[in-house]
Amino acid sequence: LGALILVIEDEREIRRYLTVALEGLGHSVIEAATAREGQQAMIARRPDIVILDLGLPDRDGQDVIRDFREWSHTPIIVLSARDRETDKVEALENGADDYLTKPFSALELAARIKVALRHRAGSEMAGEPVFRQDGLMVDLSARAVTLDGEAVHPTPIEYKLLTTLIRHAGKVLTHGQLTKEIWGRHSPDSNQGLRIHTQHLREKLKDDPLAPRFIITEPGIGYRFKV
Ligand code: CA
Repeated sequence: LGALILVIEDEREIRRYLTVALEGLGHSVIEAATAREGQQAMIARRPDIVILDLGLPDRDGQDVIRDFREWSHTPIIVLSARDRETDKVEALENGADDYLTKPFSALELAARIKVALRHRAGSEMAGEPVFRQDGLMVDLSARAVTLDGEAVHPTPIEYKLLTTLIRHAGKVLTHGQLTKEIWGRHSPDSNQGLRIHTQHLREKLKDDPLAPRFIITEPGIGYRFKV
């Protein structure tokens, strides 16, 4: 089933590439070359997903995200350069759902769109007390975790980390978002605690960070549960 996707990108070649790739996946595309055009299309056309370049000629992409988030829950996927990790973190914490690093493949684009469409429904895990994936079973009502049929015993913090990640499966969560979710506060200065708990959780899930079965590290940004 095709979605209506708004592409806000000033570089014509990338815009065309996105349009061709998205139409190839069966979606319809609205193209905008500036933040202003994008905003107008957002209001007039109500797209299902927005793909937003952070470097636009008329406005800072971060401001565009903050504006959209004041009145819309439409998933936003930002486009950013490889060496702009802090921009990506800022975009995610401003309310963007995910990012694509330029240059990206049509395969990566398809994967991000798929996750964004699923999260758009806003019903991930709703009415699903048991999560199952690749040998992992998390029973959210019984707070029980098994791996390949064997009981796993996460600490309360590890359990919170695991359930936060699976609730957003496929989507990147920043260190700050995870810290806030787990400890109820935002502490971007130190991710050491989070790193240690993630390491312990991975050990319990027999998950190799170099060949992840469940938890993917997004360097300089955060973690993503594999789908
Ligand atoms: Ca640009």
